[in-house]
Amino acid sequence: MITLDEKRCYGATAKELAQLRTSIEYVNKVLAHPKFDELCRSLTFTEAEGDSGAFIALNMRQPVTVGVSFYSRWWSKVVGWTNLGSKSAEFVQIHANRKFWLGNSAEEDGSNILHELAHGFGYTHSRKPWFKSVPYRMNFIYEEVMKVIKAEEMSAV
Ligand SMILES: [Zn+2]
Repeated sequence: MITLDEKRCYGATAKELAQLRTSIEYVNKVLAHPKFDELCRSLTFTEAEGDSGAFIALNMRQPVTVGVSFYSRWWSKVVGWTNLGSKSAEFVQIHANRKFWLGNSAEEDGSNILHELAHGFGYTHSRKPWFKSVPYRMNFIYEEVMKVIKAEEMSAV
């Protein structure tokens, strides 16, 4: 589960910080949902360093503090980046191109946060097919779990 360290959200405006808080709430909801674990266990992963889906779920759910640095690079196609970390990382600094992060919704940013978190825990996507790598699988899983969460919220009212 993610704790946002707002002191390490360098360059963030009040609006970006507010959106970030909402994004982190989405990511934590997704991580806590049983469907997250279920999907991690049922999918195959490349570049997982021998980790099983069950282990990946456990790894992604460990307590971690996140900071997000914002930068402006309007000509770049890069949404964001993170230094490659290790499985037991306690802190992950994400670098966010504000063109995309503020342009997207808080829900879409949550997907990017989960992708970058996978890098923070040491998972890469250096080979094709990228979509089977842990970071890109996290984008897919995030979207699938969000669908389930929305359906549950709809039926609860
Ligand atoms: Zn990536």
